[in-house]
Amino acid sequence: MKILIADDDPISRRLLERTLQHSGYEVITAEDGRQAASELSKADGPRLALVDWMMPELDGLGVCREVRAKHDDSYVYILLLTSKESSEDVVKGLEAGADDYLTKPFHPAELKARLHTGRRILQLEDKLIEAREDMRFKATHDALTSLWDRGAVLALLRNELCRSARELTSVSLLLCDIDHFKQINDIHGHPIGDEVLEEVSTRLLDAVRSYDAVGRYGGEEFLIVLSGCDAEHLEARAEQVRKAISDVLFSTAQGPIFVSLSIGAITIQNWDKSNPIEPLLKQADIALYRAKESGRNRVVYAEAFAAV
Ligand code: GH3
Ligand code: MG
Ligand code: MG
Repeated sequence: MKILIADDDPISRRLLERTLQHSGYEVITAEDGRQAASELSKADGPRLALVDWMMPELDGLGVCREVRAKHDDSYVYILLLTSKESSEDVVKGLEAGADDYLTKPFHPAELKARLHTGRRILQLEDKLIEAREDMRFKATHDALTSLWDRGAVLALLRNELCRSARELTSVSLLLCDIDHFKQINDIHGHPIGDEVLEEVSTRLLDAVRSYDAVGRYGGEEFLIVLSGCDAEHLEARAEQVRKAISDVLFSTAQGPIFVSLSIGAITIQNWDKSNPIEPLLKQADIALYRAKESGRNRVVYAEAFAAV
């Protein structure tokens, strides 16, 4: 773990460095408070800091205040080193943002123990952030396929429509539905059906660009938002998606299975953000229905939607 030692006295800096290197820390040193604050503000800078109170340029309290003023995600645990031991000074240090303090001269074992406490708190923070990120992901993604869920992909669609209107570009939508999916479940069982849904999702992601959005719109329906895709390029993009599913058999625990998609496609231009998006989806759905009726494993194009 990285640790910052900020001390203007070269001898005590060297001593601390050696002690902490012995304890397995990756030590970064700073000769004054300004340098310390700059090291701590780096994206992958140390999250544990041993900061001397008395330093030129910016003192230890100043370092604490600068670090706390940043509302960063990753917390820096600051242990203030001081020869001041009055209660008023301790309060001042803690109020400036230090997490703990140690009065000089200190015992190396106490320093190590206090740093250990700091690490424990940082680990706890890591766990909390991880849990929060996990919850954020789950709140917007489908559990089986990890694609955007219906609500999230519709929100992305709204954003993309507004952005494209501002930038005078187009957005295209592909509403995709797996053909005869019920039969796959009936013949091979629900778990194989789930496997197929996962593989379809992977192939859809591979078939689009990184800034396009793929969402699970319903049970075996997917909504793809192709940003910047105009009517001229829609056919090539839609065919690429269709073929990504039907051109190569799906290998499952029950052997290879043929899977295909029917797709309703539409391009939108000049979107007015006061418009509801339901009519767009309705048109894509009608096109999808026509793709089913006319034989499946095909793309049907709705008339381009352009507000005037
Ligand atoms: P079509 O070609 O007309 O679309 O026929 P289909 O059989 O694909 O359509 P239908 O709507 O009749 O059946 C969809 C099936 O998808 C029914 C439902 O049980 C199944 N399904 C929905 N969600 C899941 C899921 O998460 N896992 C599995 N295994 N099946 C699902
Ligand atoms: Mg369906
Ligand atoms: Mg279907």
